[in-house]
Amino acid sequence: MEAELGSNPSYIWRSIMAAKPLMKEGLRWRVGNGEQVRVWWDKWIPSSPNFQVESPVANLGLQAKVAELIDHNTRSWKSNVLQANFNPQDRRRINQIPIPRVQESDVRVWGWDKLGNYSVKSGYHVWRKKKLEGLGERYIPVDWKRLWQLQLPPKVRVFLWKWGSNILPTGANLSKRIREACDECPFCGLRETQEHILRDCDWAGRIWRPSALGTLFAEGAEKSSEEWLCDLIGKVSDDELCSVVMALWFIWKERNNQYFNNPKMEENEVMARAEAYLDEFRLGVAVEGPARVPRREVRWEKPERNLLKANVDASKLKEGGTGLGLVVRDEEGRVALAAARRTRVDWEPEMAEAHAILWALDLLQTHAPRPTLIESDCKSLIQKLDRQGNIETELGVIVKEIREKCSERGDVCWRFWGRGGNAAAHEMARVKCRWEETELWLGSPPIFILNVLERDCNGTLPV
Ligand SMILES: [Zn+2]
Repeated sequence: MEAELGSNPSYIWRSIMAAKPLMKEGLRWRVGNGEQVRVWWDKWIPSSPNFQVESPVANLGLQAKVAELIDHNTRSWKSNVLQANFNPQDRRRINQIPIPRVQESDVRVWGWDKLGNYSVKSGYHVWRKKKLEGLGERYIPVDWKRLWQLQLPPKVRVFLWKWGSNILPTGANLSKRIREACDECPFCGLRETQEHILRDCDWAGRIWRPSALGTLFAEGAEKSSEEWLCDLIGKVSDDELCSVVMALWFIWKERNNQYFNNPKMEENEVMARAEAYLDEFRLGVAVEGPARVPRREVRWEKPERNLLKANVDASKLKEGGTGLGLVVRDEEGRVALAAARRTRVDWEPEMAEAHAILWALDLLQTHAPRPTLIESDCKSLIQKLDRQGNIETELGVIVKEIREKCSERGDVCWRFWGRGGNAAAHEMARVKCRWEETELWLGSPPIFILNVLERDCNGTLPV
């Protein structure tokens, strides 16, 4: 972080140097034993906007270290110390931070990335967000969820995604990757960026200007594809958005026709064809119903002989806090163990699921120490568990612990299984048991999940 710019810095080096102040701002601590981290001055709270405590300095000393807040024997935060020094908001945030099982030193991580590694992409996003905030504009990330729900043919949706991510194979985008690629617009010779070829080029203008969408296109001038898209999302109806996307797709198709010497359309024809195609598609959808094929419902399946299956789930509670649920069944579908717990800590979904697995591992160890397959319906977490390598953030602390415990046991593994097969655990995670206590059912199941158990075993309740 101390290097200076030389006389002929490379492009990449210049970008890194430009990001230097930003990197400093984005670096924070992941608490290990808390001995290096200063309570009041350092960035160490992942869910706080600037990663710092908000409470004013209280009776802990000015140079107090986070270690003073931790009870390492019980691996918990000292609630009396938290109570005496922090407001409820800070206390809630601090309680979300896991304390590693084995004492380890504090680590500096990149705060804005889910995995804690600095990447140009997350750095760029923060930079852009800050730039826009500085200009007084609101930063709106592209609402992909809404875009995926638009009634558009799949190939047009893929186009939309490529356009919004700025990866259409235009001259400019190709020349970033291929040195010899020509980055000139086939119509006017200017640099062919996405914005140029689909909107700003005179050729494109002749297509869209006379059309009903002309104003929307004109308003996009000077904006990057992403900004323009955000703009449109915030401003127009889904129907209009479909029309714009369809028009862009037709302009892009026509550009390719010209480029590859395919039969061309008349310029004044392109927008009309786009509109007609969209109408046709809508009509088709209306007649045939949604084009989506219903997914086969995922069901619970009995484990193999001599294996237990542990279904685990976590659930965000309406009253605040997190519910954990566990149902362990044998090869006949009989319940060996069921458990529920409610905790006041609000975790992010992945973190909650990870804590649920950790909790389940301890219960299995005590009450059913047999070969077990753990099933969770949190795909992203299972992917992180499967992947080699460390995760730098707080989630990494728990992921590491799950991996360690499973490898110590040697007979426990995990896999992702869809929500339809995890209903029993889901029910358990919503049981209103006492706070911060694990409620156990050994050998016979709680009556309130009997119908789920029955359904899982195709209508017969195993005894
Ligand atoms: Zn051009």
